[in-house]
Amino acid sequence: MQKFVYLFTEGNAKMKNLLGGKGANLAEMTGLGLPIPQGFTVTTEACNQYYADDEKLSKDMEKQIFEALKEIEKIQDKKFGDIYDPLLVSVRSGAPVSMPGMMDTILNLGLNDDSVLGFANRTNNPRFAFDSYRRFIQMYSDVVMEVPKSEFEKIIDEVKESKGIKSDLELDVDDFKLLIKKFKKIYKDAIGEEFPQDVKVQLLGAVRAVFRSWNNPRAIVYRRLNDISSDIGTAVNVQAMVFGNKGETSGTGVAFTRNPSNGKKGIFGEYLINAQGEDVVAGVRTPEPIDKLKKDLPECYNQFVLFASMLEKHYRDMQDMEFTIEEGKLYFLQTRNGKRTAQAAINIACDLVDEGLITKDEALLRIDAKSLDQLLHPKFNEDALKKGKVIGEGLPASPGAAAGKVVFNAEEAKKLGVGGQGEKVILVRLETTPEDIEGMVASQGVLTVRGGMTSHAAVVARGMGTCCVSGCSDIKYNEEKQEFELGGKIYHAGDEISLDGTNGVIYDGIIETEEASVTGNFAKIMKWADEVRTLGVRTNADNPRDTKNAIRLGAEGIGLCRTEHMFFDEKRIPKIREMILADSTEAREKALKALIPFQKEDFKAMYMELKGLPMTVRYLDPPLHEFLPHTDDEIKELAKDMKIDPDTLKQKVADLHEFNPMMGHRGCRLDVTYPEIARMQTRALMEAAIEVKNEKGYDTTPEIMIPLVGDKKELDFVKDIVVETAEEVKKEYNSRIKYHIGTMIELPRACVIADQIAESAEFFSFGTNDLTQMTFGFSRDDAGKFLDSYYQNQIYEFDPFQRIDENGVGKLVTLGVKLGKKTRPDIQLGICGEHGGDPASVEFCHKAGLTYVSCSPYRIPIARLAAAQAAIKGRKN
Ligand code: PEP
Ligand code: MG
Repeated sequence: MQKFVYLFTEGNAKMKNLLGGKGANLAEMTGLGLPIPQGFTVTTEACNQYYADDEKLSKDMEKQIFEALKEIEKIQDKKFGDIYDPLLVSVRSGAPVSMPGMMDTILNLGLNDDSVLGFANRTNNPRFAFDSYRRFIQMYSDVVMEVPKSEFEKIIDEVKESKGIKSDLELDVDDFKLLIKKFKKIYKDAIGEEFPQDVKVQLLGAVRAVFRSWNNPRAIVYRRLNDISSDIGTAVNVQAMVFGNKGETSGTGVAFTRNPSNGKKGIFGEYLINAQGEDVVAGVRTPEPIDKLKKDLPECYNQFVLFASMLEKHYRDMQDMEFTIEEGKLYFLQTRNGKRTAQAAINIACDLVDEGLITKDEALLRIDAKSLDQLLHPKFNEDALKKGKVIGEGLPASPGAAAGKVVFNAEEAKKLGVGGQGEKVILVRLETTPEDIEGMVASQGVLTVRGGMTSHAAVVARGMGTCCVSGCSDIKYNEEKQEFELGGKIYHAGDEISLDGTNGVIYDGIIETEEASVTGNFAKIMKWADEVRTLGVRTNADNPRDTKNAIRLGAEGIGLCRTEHMFFDEKRIPKIREMILADSTEAREKALKALIPFQKEDFKAMYMELKGLPMTVRYLDPPLHEFLPHTDDEIKELAKDMKIDPDTLKQKVADLHEFNPMMGHRGCRLDVTYPEIARMQTRALMEAAIEVKNEKGYDTTPEIMIPLVGDKKELDFVKDIVVETAEEVKKEYNSRIKYHIGTMIELPRACVIADQIAESAEFFSFGTNDLTQMTFGFSRDDAGKFLDSYYQNQIYEFDPFQRIDENGVGKLVTLGVKLGKKTRPDIQLGICGEHGGDPASVEFCHKAGLTYVSCSPYRIPIARLAAAQAAIKGRKN
C-alpha cells in the first residue's frame, strides 16, 4: 500500500517534495527536539492522486489519516471529538515551494455541539471555547463549503449593533452561543444540510478543501508568476492546536532571523498577546514589535531567540517562523527560508558567506535573479504606496515606478517632459507606434490600452528602463477629446497618475518615488556571478544612451541593434517615408542616400560607446507601412513635403496595407524587393566602423545580421549585396577591416534547415519573439487578450513570450543549434528575443550551448546572475 501519511516523527527536511515545505520542516524541527505541537502530513502524492481520481480521497488515504490521528491522540493524550477533553487540530496547506497565503487553512477543527462543552470545561473558559467554535464554523463554511464569509460578518455586526458595542472583544459567551446558532442556520440555508457534527467528516472535508485550493485562481496566478509547476501538488498538515488566545500569558507571532527588507541580522517580527495566528495575518488587530515580548514574557522570548538562531544555523539561511505561546509555553508552528526583497537577499547572501555558513556558489543560488529588477529602477516609497488609490491594472510590461502628468501624444510629451520643459509626464496611448519613441524617452512612464508584454511599447520601454503598464483594457480612451476614463474618474491632460510597472498597477495622483541604488554587495554578487558563468551576456540597444547604460550594468557588447529604431527621429522619418513611397529605384536611392549620414553617425556613436566591444547590427525589419503617416493631416503634410498630390499619397498608403503585416513584407524580404536598402545600411555601417577604427583604434568588426531568413538562397541574395557594398567601401577607404554576416533564426523553417543556412551565415541569433509567434501561430501583440483563459484553464502555465516554451520553441532552437554546429562547428550562437533576460530561459540557453544571451539593458544583471546559476546547477548535475 502506498504511504500517503507521515507522522512528524517520520519525516525530515529532505522530504520537501513529498511532505511540502511546511510538513518537511515541522518534521525536521521535531527531530531537532524543538517544541512542536504534533501532527501528520498527507503527502503531495496524495494530492496528485486526489486529482487523478476526480477529486476524491481514496479509501487508503482515509484509513491512513485516521490511523495517524490515533497516534496523535496518544502523543497529545486527548481524543478527537471527545466530550470531556477534545483534541482540536489545524489543517493547513504546504506545497514544496512556499506560496504564502495562496491556499487554505482551517483552525479549531474537531469542535461540535458536544465537544465544545468539554473544551469549555477543560479550559475553564466557556467564552473562549464558544468563540473558538464560532470561528471554526465560519472558517469551515467558507473554506470547505464556499459559503461567503461576508454573510457571517454581517451577522456579527448585527449582534454587536443590537448590543451597542464596537469590538469583538466585548462579546460574551451568550453572544457567541447566539452567533453559533445563527451561523449554523446560514450553513443549513446555503448547503441544505446541518453543519457536520461528525468530526471525522469535518477532517476529511478539510483535507479535500486544502487539496482543492491548490487550483484556486490566486494559486494558479502565483504559480505562473513564480515559475512553479502545477504538477507538484500541495501536502496537507494536520496538527494539534495550541492556543495563543487563552489570556495574558498566551500569544502568537511571526518573526524572521534577519530583516526581510534590508537583510540586517537580528530578530525582526511582530506578535500579539492573547490572540490566534489569523488575527496577526488578517490584520484584525495591530501587532506589537517582538521586542515587547521581551518585557511581557522574557523567558519565552529568550527561548525563542535561542531556537531561532539554532534554526538559522541548521538551515544556513534566514528563517521566517510562526510561533504560539499557550499559557507561558512556547511552540513553533512553522519555519521556512524567509521571503525577502532583492536588496535583503543580496545582503544576506554576502553576510552568510562572511559568516562561513555558505559558499559563494550557494550565495549566488540563493538570490532570485528576477528580483534584481527591483534594484534597477526607481521605486515607490513604500509608505506612500500603501496610501495610494488604485484605479486600474494592466500588464507589468516594464518594471519601475513613475508618477507624473498625463499627456496624450508624443509631441506633448516631448514639449513638457525630459528634454523639453523638464516636467514629469506619463504618456497614455491607445497603443504606441514607432513615432511615439521620442515621447517615450521624454516620459517617466507609459500606459497603453492595448498591447502585450512584447508589444512595441513594452520592448522599447524595457530597453529604455522606462516604466510601462500595457494592455489596460479597462481604460475608456477618447482620442478625440483627449481624455480617458478609469476607476470611475475622467482624466484630462495635466491630471496626475502614477504607474507601478513592476506589478502593472495604476494609481490616482502622484506617489513619491526613490532612485534605485546599486550597493557594494550588489557589485560583489555580480563579480562572483561573472567568475562562474560561461554564457556571454550582451544587450539589445540601438542608441548610445542605452549602450552606455548597458555597459555600466555589465554588457559585453550589443547582441541586437534594431536599426529601424534609428529612423523614428522626426528629421529622418520623412526621408524613410519618401523612400517607401518612391516610384522608381532612382527616387528611392535618392531618399536613402539622404539617410546614410544619419545612420552612419548613429553607428559611429554606438562604436564610440562600445570601445571595441562587439555589435550585431540587424538590418531593417518591420513592415514598411509602420513608418507611414496615418491621419489625413499627416498625409497632407507629407504630400506637401514630397510635392505630390495628397490623394495620390493616400492611395499609396492604402496600397501598402497588409492584412497580416507580421507575416508580410518585412525582414530580409524588404532587401529582396529593395536591394538599395541593404546597400545603404551596409555603406553607413562600414564607413562608420572604418572611421572609428581609424580615428580611435577600437576593434570594430561589424556583425551584420539579416532578419527573418527562411531560405539559404534568400540569405545569399542579400549577402551578395552586402559583400559587394562592403568591399566597395573598403576599397574607397583602403581598409582591410573584417566583417561577419549572419542571420536571425526566427522562423521555424530556418531552424529546420539551419545546416543549409549556416553554409552562408557566420553566426546565428535566435529571435525568439518571432520564433514563438510563428511557432504557436499567434500574434505577439494580441496573444495577451486570450492567454489569460489559457492560464485559468491550465492549458498553459506561463506566457511563452516571456519564458521560452522549451517543449516546442525550445526544441526548434536545439535543432537549429545542432544543425548549425554540424555545418560550422565554431558558429557563434546568440539569442536576442525577450527571453534573453528571463532566468528560466537563460538556463535553457546555457543548456542548449548558446554563446551568449542578449537582453535589454536593465536586465543585464539578471542575465548575468541567471547564467551563473545555470552554470553552477549544470556542474552539480
Ligand atoms: C525577435 O523576433 O525575437 C527579435 C529579437 O526581433 P524583433 O523583436 O525586433 O522582431
Ligand atoms: Mg524578430
